[in-house]
Amino acid sequence: MARKWQEFVLVKRIVIIGAGFAGVWSALSAARLLDKHAVGPDQVEVMVVAPRASLDLRPRFYEANVAEMTAPVGAVFEAAGVRFVAGTVEIIDADGKAIEYADPGGARVRLAYDRLVLASGSRLVRPEIAGLKEHAFSIDQLDEASQFEAHLRGLAGRADSVARNTAIVIGGGFTGIEIATELPARMRSILGKGAQVRVIAIERADAIGPELGAGPRPVIVEALASQGVECRLSTSVVEIDAGGVRTTAGERIDSLSVVWTGGMRASPLTEQIDCERDALGRLLVDADLRVASAPEIFATGDTARARTDASGNHTVMSCQHALGLGRFSGNNAAADLLEIPTLPYSQERYVTCLDLGPWGSVVTAGWDRVVQLSGAEAKQRKRYINSTLIMPPPPVRAEALAAADPSQPRNPSSLQARA
Ligand SMILES: Cc1cc2nc3c(=O)[nH]c(=O)nc-3n(C[C@H](O)[C@H](O)[C@H](O)COP(=O)(O)OP(=O)(O)OC[C@H]3O[C@@H](n4cnc5c(N)ncnc54)[C@H](O)[C@@H]3O)c2cc1C
Repeated sequence: MARKWQEFVLVKRIVIIGAGFAGVWSALSAARLLDKHAVGPDQVEVMVVAPRASLDLRPRFYEANVAEMTAPVGAVFEAAGVRFVAGTVEIIDADGKAIEYADPGGARVRLAYDRLVLASGSRLVRPEIAGLKEHAFSIDQLDEASQFEAHLRGLAGRADSVARNTAIVIGGGFTGIEIATELPARMRSILGKGAQVRVIAIERADAIGPELGAGPRPVIVEALASQGVECRLSTSVVEIDAGGVRTTAGERIDSLSVVWTGGMRASPLTEQIDCERDALGRLLVDADLRVASAPEIFATGDTARARTDASGNHTVMSCQHALGLGRFSGNNAAADLLEIPTLPYSQERYVTCLDLGPWGSVVTAGWDRVVQLSGAEAKQRKRYINSTLIMPPPPVRAEALAAADPSQPRNPSSLQARA
């Protein structure tokens, strides 16, 4: 039985760190459960702390017009009764049940919580390769992708040269493949059809898309070839400078546009929580998405490694899983506070949808990634995912709360995911 919340004088607070896919859906699902149990914001406050009230559409950062790839969520939070606070969390004090964040003016604020949902996502890993930090672009965060786009546009004003016309994508995983297949057409549209555009993907494994497995590989190889993308396999970059890269094969490749896509790691905030982690820094959570050492803390999205099904599969850092995890984590944080049963997380279906530039896309199903669709038909699916399925709900209270029901997800299993 839920406690009689009208008896509480003090407001209880659920704090969610992050306004990405997992954070937005956590907030809405917590608000939904409270609403269902007639618990108002004067009794339990749901608060999101993030730098901006906008959901950055990271899966679209390989596309052009990247400044548009963010969706405001202030109005939907307001409609759902979720309070948004602009800030960057610096400290999680699990013993004191409080966080400390820096507000936009730089002031430090301490905030107590009753339940905490960590949804601060992930960041691109930047290893110690000479020149990487100074000279390589990335498309991991909105500002970085915008900077890369501005650089590409600026190439039109530079003198014609091999380095100007050549782009190098380091890493042949999901992100690397998407940006590599996109770049030839994009660079030609900037530099003119006659430009001798070259795009080279460098992958240290002996096959492109190593984590994707053999199923979709022939399609990916065909798509890369159709766009003229050259692949250097079993090759790493050892040095990057302002004019290009040097590889382990001893090759020097001149390029003004080097993009690093090599791997992700969970948000550094995970390191402040006493918990077992996986190789990506994600917290190992139970079926409620709770952290073992701190029962008031839930982890979700890219900060969590959770079991998806009874066959022993686990979440991957993906939008598909962040959307599902978010709905469960917010629901469970609120249920725990109300002392009503939580809902064990499960997400049985797993699909991937990879964009392959003008060639099309490829859709696979299952953990062994059996190709279901490819080419133009799959591209239509990708467009639908990118423009509709991953978007936050409209700022209409009933609609937003209904869409956050973890037992009736808005079809996240038809979303794309990555290995
Ligand atoms: C280029 C690219 C392409 C991708 N393509 C795909 C794809 O095709 N399919 C797919 O499924 N996935 C894709 N992904 C992965 C997907 O974007 C992530 O898995 C997903 O964004 C994770 O959602 P999240 O909510 O956990 O984290 P994020 O989306 O990273 O959101 C994290 C939130 O936390 C906030 N935050 C971070 N630190 C703090 C702090 N200290 N204090 C307060 N707030 C903080 C951030 O500002 C943000 O609001 C791609 C990612 C990239 C970068």
